[in-house]
Amino acid sequence: MILTDTHTHLYLEQFDTDRDAMIQRALTAGVKYMLLPNIDSGTIPRMMDLCAGYPEHLFPMIGLHPTDVKENFESELDKISEILAKNKFYAIGETGIDLYWDKTFVREQKTALIFQIQLAKQYELPVVLHVRNSFNEVIEVLHDVADQKLTGVFHCFTGSKEQADQIISYGFKLGIGGVLTYKNSGLDKVVAEIAMEHLLLETDSPFLAPVPYRGKRNESSYIALIAEKLASIKGITPEEVAAETTKNAIKLFKFPQ
Ligand SMILES: [Zn+2]
Repeated sequence: MILTDTHTHLYLEQFDTDRDAMIQRALTAGVKYMLLPNIDSGTIPRMMDLCAGYPEHLFPMIGLHPTDVKENFESELDKISEILAKNKFYAIGETGIDLYWDKTFVREQKTALIFQIQLAKQYELPVVLHVRNSFNEVIEVLHDVADQKLTGVFHCFTGSKEQADQIISYGFKLGIGGVLTYKNSGLDKVVAEIAMEHLLLETDSPFLAPVPYRGKRNESSYIALIAEKLASIKGITPEEVAAETTKNAIKLFKFPQ
């Protein structure tokens, strides 16, 4: 079984005490490919060093996380553009809009999102979108700037069937994570109606751990629990879920196998 975790922050401090053992657990669990979304210019060196140590398994993205869009966002985006010009990345992300934590910089978040979508177009990379309490705002931006070639994923999708259909109409995928295993999330009923070709698996480690680890630190090996849940919803085997979602991830991110 070959699983892919399309969204995992393995370089964060929550893994400082056992990072290599934790990555080994993921590899042992069949999680052969892991994609690392960036947060800000400060996390890039750690992320790139970690990926360099596992060149067949870990693949970096580059971007500025919406909750880190502050007064200095323009200089942050300049740094990101410079590093992107000189190094190989597999996606732009994570970017997006977050209106859950703080609405102070909503205009700047939007500007930063548009800038990063332009980078995605320029480098022909997929864009990884963080959408929290901001579905309509992000769709509005996509409506303005999307073209036939632009693609990507709505990471940590927890929306309705109508929202899923809108995302799919823009040629984007849905990133399905631990929320799928939460009782009363309602996500199971939505996902049941969406074709497998539109779905990716992700943990968002160290956040959003699936049941039975809910509330604890998340790690990429737990992607197997999300695959099992999706398999039971779809009435197929976890092996089929792994194969389909890994195929979708390879097609989107084009990482080497
Ligand atoms: Zn994330």
